[in-house]
Amino acid sequence: MEQTFIILKPSTISRSLVGDVITRFQRKGLIIAGIKMMQLDEKILREHYAHLVDRPFFPTLVKSMMATPVIVMVLKGKDVVSVVRAMVGATNCRNAAPGTIRGDFGMSGQENIVHASDSPENAAIEVARFFKPEEIFDYDLATIASIYAPDER
Ligand code: UDP
Ligand code: MG
Repeated sequence: MEQTFIILKPSTISRSLVGDVITRFQRKGLIIAGIKMMQLDEKILREHYAHLVDRPFFPTLVKSMMATPVIVMVLKGKDVVSVVRAMVGATNCRNAAPGTIRGDFGMSGQENIVHASDSPENAAIEVARFFKPEEIFDYDLATIASIYAPDER
């Protein structure tokens, strides 16, 4: 099954929303294949946000992403990249629809609670950037037969 990469950003840690955000992913039926806490540094952020290094907000983005440790996750599920992007909502929390994570938990374009991969190709790159192979676990939920029909697995 497909994997996606998530960061619970310092805004989530600082506001004690870790449980609320992870609960949403679990209630959806997604499998947590990997999870750990880490402190990001400028080197990894310049790789992760390479598409943004020339933008005026990049220095404050880096500072914000290093403000506390973060929780990084690998989530597994059918079409999980697009499913999770829909759950996360628009980049700016003020534009994100109610019912999405950003729409329900945030008010900022930068302090926007989570990162989620935007394509299966980028998910594979991001998972490999942040996780060692042995930190990702291949197991099934006991409830899997209630989450998917046989031909969806
Ligand atoms: N960001 C920002 N100002 C902007 C656009 C983006 O501070 O005008 C930050 C924001 O935290 C966002 C991150 O840069 O989540 C990555 O931007 P991207 O366009 O990839 O948005 P995302 O994929 O996170 O929705
Ligand atoms: Mg992005």
